[in-house]
Amino acid sequence: MRLTKLREALAAEGLDAILITQPENRRYLSGFTGSAGVLLISQDQAVLATDFRYYEQVEKQAPDFRLAKITDKFKTLLPELVQQVGAKRVGFESAHLTVDQHQEWQEVAEGFELVPTKEWVEKIRAVKDEDELGKIEKAIALADQAFAHIVSFIEPGMTEKEVAWELEVFMRTRGAEKLAFDIIVASGPNGAMPHATVSERVIRAGEPVVMDMGARIDGYNSDLTRTVCAGRPDGKFREIYDIVLEAQRAAEQRVRPGMTGKQADAIARQVIEEAGYGDNYGHGLGHGVGLAVHEKPGVGRLSEDVLEPGMVFTVEPGIYLTDWGGVRVEDIVVMREDGVEVLTRASKDVGRQ
Ligand code: ZN
Ligand code: ZN
Repeated sequence: MRLTKLREALAAEGLDAILITQPENRRYLSGFTGSAGVLLISQDQAVLATDFRYYEQVEKQAPDFRLAKITDKFKTLLPELVQQVGAKRVGFESAHLTVDQHQEWQEVAEGFELVPTKEWVEKIRAVKDEDELGKIEKAIALADQAFAHIVSFIEPGMTEKEVAWELEVFMRTRGAEKLAFDIIVASGPNGAMPHATVSERVIRAGEPVVMDMGARIDGYNSDLTRTVCAGRPDGKFREIYDIVLEAQRAAEQRVRPGMTGKQADAIARQVIEEAGYGDNYGHGLGHGVGLAVHEKPGVGRLSEDVLEPGMVFTVEPGIYLTDWGGVRVEDIVVMREDGVEVLTRASKDVGRQ
């Protein structure tokens, strides 16, 4: 199915074959999880070129691909492979090849032409099948559990690092093959930076704490943000928190298939703008999630990606106030025929005990 879609794209764009170098794309199409290798896919052939370290792994993970053994540099093998599949116009992923690699390939490209392509596989990846959805749901459930755990763990006086480590150990010891990304625990003023990481700062009672985390299971990622208050939240916290929650709720209720990422973004942004905090929300509403933590579709102010059933993406508005902190609430949703289904189950009440 995945190869069929790619082959349709090849035919539509008038290419005979395509070379795939982007790691997640390579895995998505072949099943091969190794960290080095190039796929060559034509209408009737599928080849995976890699080196000695991975020969056995390829046979196990990618039985539908013919293994081409790289014993020297890949470029020395390239003309032969292209000839074997009988290709004249050969696509490559222009965003995932270094200038040096491109130059090397170009040097040996005799009798065929290298044609740049953009996001072909990424577009196919944006729509998830049931198997992928199942893996994403597992990763989401683990992050949800980690959050439920941390709510009972976190107390004023702890450092951000202690809280982040507790989250990491929780996810790693309960099935995450790795973290989806470095955990963010941003307390008080640190939370004003949307991508703050983790510091030795001591969390104080009454201030917002933004926690952004995700687990990776079977290659698929989750991405969860909740903002809590260690201790009693004050009026300011409640005001900001309610606006962010309202923005998220509006998007989750009103986004429909056929909208662009930009239109989805505008729904939540309007709520925050009308509340007077438009200048304090500087990032997009969300992003696709799957084999990569950030993938298609884009769900931001500039995204023309059309949201289709089967797409999985985040909905994560936020408000960031210098010297005070930030509030961000992030869910993962899957697009259905009649709107989005929220997959994240982590509580949102804890921000306002
Ligand atoms: Zn996140
Ligand atoms: Zn995110």
